[in-house]
Amino acid sequence: MLGKKLREALARLTGRAYVDEDAVKSLIKDLQRVLIASDVNVRLVFALSKKIEERSLKSEKLEALSLKEHVMKVVYEELVRLMGESYNPRLDRHKILLCGLYGSGKTTTCAKLAHFYKTRGLSVALVGADVDRPAAQEQLEQLSKQVGARFYTIKGEKDATKIVKKVLPEIREDIIIVDSAGRNALDAELADELKKINEELRPDEVYLVLSGDIGQIAGRQAEEFNKTVPLTGVIVTKMDGSAKGGGALSAVAATGTKIAFIGLGEKINDLQVYSAEKFVGRLLGVPDIEGLMEKIKEATREQDIKTIESEELTIETFYEQLKAAKKMGPLSGIFSMLGASDVPKEMLQQSEQKMKQYEAMINSMTKEERKNPSLLRSNPSRITRVARGSGCGEKDVREFLTQFERMEKLMNRFKRDRSFRSKIEKLIKGGMPGIGGIF
Ligand code: GDP
Ligand code: MG
Repeated sequence: MLGKKLREALARLTGRAYVDEDAVKSLIKDLQRVLIASDVNVRLVFALSKKIEERSLKSEKLEALSLKEHVMKVVYEELVRLMGESYNPRLDRHKILLCGLYGSGKTTTCAKLAHFYKTRGLSVALVGADVDRPAAQEQLEQLSKQVGARFYTIKGEKDATKIVKKVLPEIREDIIIVDSAGRNALDAELADELKKINEELRPDEVYLVLSGDIGQIAGRQAEEFNKTVPLTGVIVTKMDGSAKGGGALSAVAATGTKIAFIGLGEKINDLQVYSAEKFVGRLLGVPDIEGLMEKIKEATREQDIKTIESEELTIETFYEQLKAAKKMGPLSGIFSMLGASDVPKEMLQQSEQKMKQYEAMINSMTKEERKNPSLLRSNPSRITRVARGSGCGEKDVREFLTQFERMEKLMNRFKRDRSFRSKIEKLIKGGMPGIGGIF
């Protein structure tokens, strides 16, 4: 749900012909609405908005990216930051304690974890230490058989710590996973039991299991459990059905606790090592930033091809393109379509002073001259007039006209010559020199 809405919001941005400050602001409004609907904390949402706005409009744009691409990159990176880090589970011998409230998915997650380590060549012991619910032991025993893990418990024992104490010396498996009892809330009794199990087991990993559908409350829950037994990570389950999963993940990330795994269904292989990049990538419908950028470039290209076919090159559009290239890099607009390598370098690197001169010249031209600059070539007195009106030399005016004519030639060739056009399109698709390998 979060994903669909986010993709829609971004599609509204990529669908725009031109991205300006208003477009960025309206994207941010969309994002705010979507994130708050997923129960992401309002303060986090506003901090994110501010960051996106600042970075989008004020700073650090890579030359090779258009403003649209830059904004997408910023949105992606800031969402990744909001959703936490990536986890790297250890794959040596170690002991794991799972804790959490009723129905959060502890027992199911025990089996999923067992499956995860088994498929990585490690043997697994599952320890049933949920002494509250009579059926809990049987549930775990069943699951152990299903995943091929060895099951340990002491039937009838009502003290979870004693179970751990007694079975621990018998276990030879590489990975030991202990399933503990839950409560409706973290009360004194549960806290006490967890502390004791923790002391007896001395686990290497303590994972809090919580359900994604509790949304931003997940943050407070992680903090409370953390005070009882220091957590090494959180496992967020039910990410498959929850509309609030984003809220849960961002709230946990904000507490500084790592998100270790996420559960995406009831089956034993519905578990993934957590990666904020992958999670956000999936939300946005692209697997990674490279894919995202590729997608934007694709969309921009298609649009640019259409633009260039319909575009009439006039002195004004030429000047606009020069300005855009100066501000956003040669990959913007028509220059990108013509392949910046076919456009003379000096045309793309006009000095501030030159741009001012050009502007003054354009102001001294008549409407007809701007539309049809050949009028100037055919009548030198017009050039004299423009030079005088703009305070430039006639030589400068001729130089500007030469640049315009070069561009016009390239454009006509692009429109007429299929092979030239496919060469340029290939060049752009394959990544233009100096553009590939940025990410
Ligand atoms: P426990 O009380 O914490 O041990 O929770 P359980 O492991 O018994 O799970 C409670 C319910 O949640 C069961 O019906 C599970 O099948 C279901 N469940 C657990 N994890 C997931 C998940 O990632 N996705 C979905 N859809 N259901 C889950
Ligand atoms: Mg259970």
